[in-house]
Amino acid sequence: MNIDGLSQRAAHPKDQLLELHGSLFDLKCFNEDCDYIEIDNFDPNIIPQLKRAAESSATALPRCPKRSSLLLPNIVWFGENLPSVTVAEADSFIEQAEQIDLMLVIGTTAQVWPASGYVDSAIEKGARVAMVNIDRGDLVPGGGELGLTHRDWFFVGDAASIVPEMLKPVVGDL
Ligand SMILES: [Zn+2]
Repeated sequence: MNIDGLSQRAAHPKDQLLELHGSLFDLKCFNEDCDYIEIDNFDPNIIPQLKRAAESSATALPRCPKRSSLLLPNIVWFGENLPSVTVAEADSFIEQAEQIDLMLVIGTTAQVWPASGYVDSAIEKGARVAMVNIDRGDLVPGGGELGLTHRDWFFVGDAASIVPEMLKPVVGDL
């Protein structure tokens, strides 16, 4: 659910990631009829362009080379649907697994469908769940919406501190 490319920058192979909420570094055309898209545009000059545009006119904003419409970050905005292909890939990844041992849910209360459903699906396939979040939300161990039980873990706190500690026996000191 990260849109900031954090997983990729931590060397998580891109072909093993499903970006349910898109990426800030992919640019798509504002015109819904246009299929123009730029993948992994890390050009830092996009920000100064926006700054200059705000100070002068809108002419310096990044524009689609096909239609001259504005380019937007290719992320899911409020009220928009998640990308159906990515959701289908995530569904099938979970469905194909005969057994799931562990599910890590990091930096989210996992209250929003369909991502919240993946936790339940994993539990049905035997997974123990380890959640890390600063906010417990409405979760009640043993009776919460996600069906967490005494087999599972909920670490309340900053994922940036807790996750490296959790994974130290596996990956060592970071
Ligand atoms: Zn376009």
